[in-house]
Amino acid sequence: MNDVVVVGAGLAGLVAAGQLQRSGLSVKVIEAAPAVGGRMVRSPLQMEDARSPAWVDLGGQWVGPSHTRFLALLEAHGLRRFPSPHDGDTVLCFGSHRCTFSGFFQGFPEGQPPSVPSRDWDDAMAALKQFQALVASLPEGHPHHHPDAAELDRLSFQDWIDAHTHTPFAAWYFAYFCRAVGFLGPAEPDQVSLLHVAWGQRTAPQGDHPEEDLIHGGAGQLPALLAEGLGDALVLGEPVRAIHQADSPTGPGMEAAVDVITDRSSHRCRAVIVAIPPALAGAIRFTPELPADRLALQEGMAMGNCTKVLIAYGRPWWREVGLSGISLGDRPWVELCADSSDPETGLGVLAAFVVGRRRERWAALGADQRRSAVLEDLAAYFGPRALEPLEYVEKNWPQEPFIGGAFAAWMPPGLWTRSGDALLRPHGRVFWAGTEVAERWPGFFEGAVDSGERAAAAVAALLG
Ligand SMILES: Cc1cc2nc3c(=O)[nH]c(=O)nc-3n(C[C@H](O)[C@H](O)[C@H](O)COP(=O)(O)OP(=O)(O)OC[C@H]3O[C@@H](n4cnc5c(N)ncnc54)[C@H](O)[C@@H]3O)c2cc1C
Repeated sequence: MNDVVVVGAGLAGLVAAGQLQRSGLSVKVIEAAPAVGGRMVRSPLQMEDARSPAWVDLGGQWVGPSHTRFLALLEAHGLRRFPSPHDGDTVLCFGSHRCTFSGFFQGFPEGQPPSVPSRDWDDAMAALKQFQALVASLPEGHPHHHPDAAELDRLSFQDWIDAHTHTPFAAWYFAYFCRAVGFLGPAEPDQVSLLHVAWGQRTAPQGDHPEEDLIHGGAGQLPALLAEGLGDALVLGEPVRAIHQADSPTGPGMEAAVDVITDRSSHRCRAVIVAIPPALAGAIRFTPELPADRLALQEGMAMGNCTKVLIAYGRPWWREVGLSGISLGDRPWVELCADSSDPETGLGVLAAFVVGRRRERWAALGADQRRSAVLEDLAAYFGPRALEPLEYVEKNWPQEPFIGGAFAAWMPPGLWTRSGDALLRPHGRVFWAGTEVAERWPGFFEGAVDSGERAAAAVAALLG
């Protein structure tokens, strides 16, 4: 019998397992997919022009200066960072207008883009001030016990947009922010709780520059490095189907045991860490049954609706015309694009995101149509050279059976108030980890690391 079974070998599960092993406990990690990593995965680019081996991150890739736990992991495994390229002008397409402007680094423009009329811009900035005041009023930890939580959780973010914006640009801007900026979700503003969006910005602020750096060779190389110390403790390709806790100790003087069951094997242990998104935990049968608020959480906390597309060129040609490779706009498919070229390769790589209901319509197209649709949007942002990439790679996260979406999960109206406590409350000897349960930087690598460390510490305290 192992001391602990960890379910899921994404970042959170791997961090938890490593910490438990270092504290002297025996661990088994059971992963559904054939490889470790979950939402951290990289793919090679086979391009002759590359100066050194080139990779793209199909999942998460950016890191910010306040992601201290994740930065420490990178350092410990010898992974080097470089500043995410952002010199040059940002492109904004809105309606039939295209303009370029400076002073934008992810998040919000720092000054009025020339094609946006003053009335619209002033409207957006007035709404932004009110949004920031709302954000500042919330706690950094889970928000559902805040005095205003029930009222804020009753509304959708779209309700707030309707009440606080009066021009098409301002209304689109906040909807885009909800869909494209990388805290929780992405979700459409009419789907997600106002409390959730505001708290996301409180606890994972764009102002902290979470997209400041990238990692040479890709963030997706980290999980395999974390898994190196696990050896035989790692079981791959076996989804956990059931977790059974005995009602009482299995014999005189014996501790209560937990059985973690897959289609091929059963693993007895003293405690379990479930390090998967809540919606995925809904596919596991628990005995005794989970409480009603936890079941509601698993049913209601949907995964974000996002496909990430990586488009590679022989060089970052957009810089030759003064563009940063960052664009945003109400184009039919791509609302956000960023430069993710690794300077050591010499290649130009754009990362484009197709999100929300746009993604649903786009995903229904054939492969050639999807590719043309993305490239046409990139051409509208950056020019016709975008139409001829050397490589084009899509990662349809919502179709991944053991992930279910990207970047992370989000709460519809009412769910925080009903089920917020269930995010972290253990179920007997079952503890919860994964970026979704983090109190700081949920949805990011940092939240995953934080959740894994906390769950491991709680289990170590229980097992003495
Ligand atoms: C497209 C995209 C872009 C992103 N961009 C960024 C970014 O730039 N910066 C950033 O900080 N974060 C980013 N993120 C988020 C970041 O990748 C995640 O927060 C983090 O990797 C989540 O780790 P996790 O361990 O919590 O969950 P996961 O990575 O989801 O790991 C869970 C694991 O559990 C496994 N599993 C599921 N069900 C079962 C089961 N029944 N039995 C056994 N195993 C199971 C899954 O296969 C998976 O391996 C992005 C994510 C995506 C997808």
